[in-house]
Amino acid sequence: MSKDIATPLRTKEILKKYGFSFKKSLGQNFLIDPNILRNITEHAGLTKDTAAIEIGPGIGALTEHLARTSGKVLAFEIDQRLVPILQDTLSPYNNVTIVNEDILKADVEEKIKEELSDYQDIMVVANLPYYVTTPIILKLLMEKLPIKGICVMLQKEVGERISAKPGTKEYGSLSIAIQYYTEAEMVMTVPKTVFMPQPNVDSAVIRLLKRDKPIVEVIDEDFFFTVTRGSFAQRRKTIMNNLTSQLPNGKERKETIVKALEETGIDATRRGETLSIEEFARLSDALYPEFNR
Ligand code: SAM
Repeated sequence: MSKDIATPLRTKEILKKYGFSFKKSLGQNFLIDPNILRNITEHAGLTKDTAAIEIGPGIGALTEHLARTSGKVLAFEIDQRLVPILQDTLSPYNNVTIVNEDILKADVEEKIKEELSDYQDIMVVANLPYYVTTPIILKLLMEKLPIKGICVMLQKEVGERISAKPGTKEYGSLSIAIQYYTEAEMVMTVPKTVFMPQPNVDSAVIRLLKRDKPIVEVIDEDFFFTVTRGSFAQRRKTIMNNLTSQLPNGKERKETIVKALEETGIDATRRGETLSIEEFARLSDALYPEFNR
């Protein structure tokens, strides 16, 4: 087995060899601790029968652990400067494909068809660029890709919001959007010292396992997300006030909102953070006919 990329010494050597300078705007904080990488791949539950999709391989610190523990790795890297470096650092592995594309613009489904059609189980495993954590996770879930789950490093605060339960201050429309599709669990917190350069925020690893079907059934997913987002627009406001100000023509449709809240047994003075996902589903279904005529 070749020497780990993710040690401070080897990372510095690679950066020096290529004269690489970090781009803060691309969220480039590389991992320099092999133990953390082993932990991430263990939590992801990889085997040689599974494939891994990585977002942002950097200089290959996590990629090589994925190459060792899974059957195949498909990695999307936006920074063209890293492509020749990865070709060099990952040369001991023949099961890695690097795609030089922005993950938010890439046709991931097509790439999975091209590269990973032999694999039933696909996990997304990454140390995410923090400036786009949420759009990346939402894209992967909303495009309904054939993946089993997502196990990623992100800002601890975002991990807490994603896995939050009703009644907590972290619970919001992001918790609902993600728990609608997955079972979410924070599996470890990570100190700043394992990154080069060190980020300003604390980090954590979150594991999202896709449900066979969404946790609740709703008439219309988009409308359900409109209602949940609207309900948290101003956290201190009641559900009634948020919905009247956020839903299309909400003020004129106040009576409809009052009626839907009554029908679903939700007190109009409650705040969004006290409603369970099931309550949001019932509420959104009760509002749907009037708002979609
Ligand atoms: N995986 C490496 C590691 O753990 O050391 C690097 C992780 S670093 C936090 C994030 C990586 O994502 C960087 O390599 C960055 O260039 C890349 N990146 C940033 N935005 C991206 C995007 N939209 N699509 C694909 N890669 C992106």
